Amino acid sequence: MNLNLENKLKEELEELKNNNLNRTIDDLRFISSTKAIDKNGKEFLVFGTNNYLGLTHHPEVIKASKEANDFGTSSTGSRLTTGASFEARELENNLSEFKNTESTLIFNTGYMANLGVIYAITKENDVIFSDQLNHASIIDGTKISKASVRIYKHKDTSDLENLIKKELKANPESNFFIVTDGVFSMDGDIAPLPELVEIANKYNCCLIIDDAHATGVIGKTGKGTVEYFKDKTGKDLSEFVDLQIGTLSKALASEGGFVCGKKVYIDYLINKSRPFIFSTALSPATIASANKALILLKDNNEEYLNNLNENTKLMRKLLSNAGLNIVEGETPIIPIIIGSADLANRFSKELEKEGILVSAIRPPSVPKGQSRLRLTIMATHTKEEIEYTADKIINIWNNLNTE
Ligand SMILES: *Cc1c(COP(=O)(O)O)cnc(C)c1O
Repeated sequence: MNLNLENKLKEELEELKNNNLNRTIDDLRFISSTKAIDKNGKEFLVFGTNNYLGLTHHPEVIKASKEANDFGTSSTGSRLTTGASFEARELENNLSEFKNTESTLIFNTGYMANLGVIYAITKENDVIFSDQLNHASIIDGTKISKASVRIYKHKDTSDLENLIKKELKANPESNFFIVTDGVFSMDGDIAPLPELVEIANKYNCCLIIDDAHATGVIGKTGKGTVEYFKDKTGKDLSEFVDLQIGTLSKALASEGGFVCGKKVYIDYLINKSRPFIFSTALSPATIASANKALILLKDNNEEYLNNLNENTKLMRKLLSNAGLNIVEGETPIIPIIIGSADLANRFSKELEKEGILVSAIRPPSVPKGQSRLRLTIMATHTKEEIEYTADKIINIWNNLNTE
């Protein structure tokens, strides 16, 4: 037993507490896509999930999950040992069609997909160019990779190009990779994909985009960043993106991650990606839920995305008209920048008293001094719920501000 270590860990935790950076887990049970209860039965309206389309509680998704449970509650092993569930292959085929790519591979989480892809396809002497605000799973993927990593300023394509030019001089034989979030998870802004495609083509880079918050959320039919820019510029960019990574845990109402791309990449990952090879696959029920959510999205994209966009516009308008410091944008991720971690915590606690759950995001998830409330809007919120919540947010902010 190492008491010395225990004391050191305790000290570190104390310091986190003193700086309002301590993290704890609240027990919560969702009783609908937008409402949850705590252990005492108190009901909350939730504005912080990634469940953008509210499909976690769609009767058809729940039914699909129950039916797939008849094939066993567990996949019982890695897909390379105990085989794929039929459901997994079906979902991969549907995702390939949806994302307009040759092939798809499911991972157990989006986190593992990023880790498993970046780690497996980048080698010593390669160079990864990574956006400064990329998701932690991309950062961790680049950390376990043997390649070297260059961070470019957030969405700054001239900074990226300069870094590439430098590396090209130093390492003309290396493979270059550009990796970016499609929709950035903490700010809700969108990567400049057309420019990234241009640079990737010019310098022969493998372009990887993580569409965790974009799939089912942006683009006319919810196909993500590639489609979002097709709507704007008329040009379909899917053929210029080497790998589109995604998650089943956000708009697709389940759990798991995936990567779509040319078959050669997918075959390579099946052989080389350790997070895929050495972990038990997702259960049939988990996969079947995601598959049903995807089918519902394909069939009802106009209705779902319309609701999501209308709700997002309404919340953004109400908050910015009241003078709150929100990060402008079009996605349902609406950050209200507060500044100190303490104030962000208090804001979130006050909302909780009113029966509204919005999480305070603090360092290290965001830079110091940029603590925020991060609202996420869902297609299944009602207009009344949005108005009620905006009202409470504005009142609490005014009170905190005049203290
Ligand atoms: C949520 C998220 C992930 C992780 O996905 P999980 O399925 O929750 O592990 C990866 N990348 C980005 C950009 C995300 O926002």
